[in-house]
Amino acid sequence: MKIYIDGTFYPEAEAKISVFDHGLLYGDGVFEGIRAYNGRVLKLDEHIDRLYDSAKALLLTIPLSREELIEATLETLRQNNLRDAYIRLVVTRGIGNLGLSPLRCPKPTIFIIAATLELYPEKYYREGLKVITAATQRTSPAALPPAVKSLNYLNNILAKIEGLNAGVEEVIMLNSEGLVAECSGDNIFTIKKGQMFTPPIYAGALGGITRGIIFDLGQTMGVPLKEIQLTRYDLFVADEIFLTGTGAEVIPVVDVDGRMIGDGTPGVMTQKFIEAYRHLTQTTGTPIFV
Ligand code: PMP
Repeated sequence: MKIYIDGTFYPEAEAKISVFDHGLLYGDGVFEGIRAYNGRVLKLDEHIDRLYDSAKALLLTIPLSREELIEATLETLRQNNLRDAYIRLVVTRGIGNLGLSPLRCPKPTIFIIAATLELYPEKYYREGLKVITAATQRTSPAALPPAVKSLNYLNNILAKIEGLNAGVEEVIMLNSEGLVAECSGDNIFTIKKGQMFTPPIYAGALGGITRGIIFDLGQTMGVPLKEIQLTRYDLFVADEIFLTGTGAEVIPVVDVDGRMIGDGTPGVMTQKFIEAYRHLTQTTGTPIFV
């Protein structure tokens, strides 16, 4: 595997980052998780846009142009001869000293890893996931905006550990108001009486790229969508629930905190979204090899 670090490709064993990098010392940085399917990168522009937005919110200046970063991402896939891949694009504050100040970090570090990944076993797409609500609240937007995809994932990891301890793969996270924000690594949608609902970003969600694709697919499929605040009750009484994420794609939920969702099997609309999403992944995107 060849890994891009600051313009050079290194073999995996030699791809190393300084222990003084603030990405490591403080989680000071931003990242994207991107997928390539069938020789094309899905929604690459959208991921790059979100990366620059995340960096801007953290006053982190990415030292490459958008075009250069896109080319570096595509070249990483080419160097590894990958047509189907999970890409991790990371920009850290860079090497500094042991103090907090980003002013001591003159040059951000950029690295790109292209690998293969299957987040959830196929059976969950057929049978659906059981999830629980985590006691760990989603970070308040007033503290660290969850819309920023930063290297600080401890909030999500603590929630994920609660899920693993309870024997479930994913957890629902609430905001400080007790309203549904999202999951530890996925956005959440409900379907009730033919309408689709998802929490707004200000409820404490990441603006998921897959979430955006579902908005578009919903419009094409004629499914009305409302971005509204949701309570746990709204989840319990939903006809269908599904989660979305670059890694997870579209995955059904059939149980929330012991309440069976619908008839306990993936809903009809959810299955349509899974199918439409998979079709999209195979037919669109930025070509890797030209
Ligand atoms: N929420 C969180 C907390 C995430 O980490 C992610 C990405 N894994 C998502 C939602 C889904 O975002 P996307 O569709 O852009 O992958």
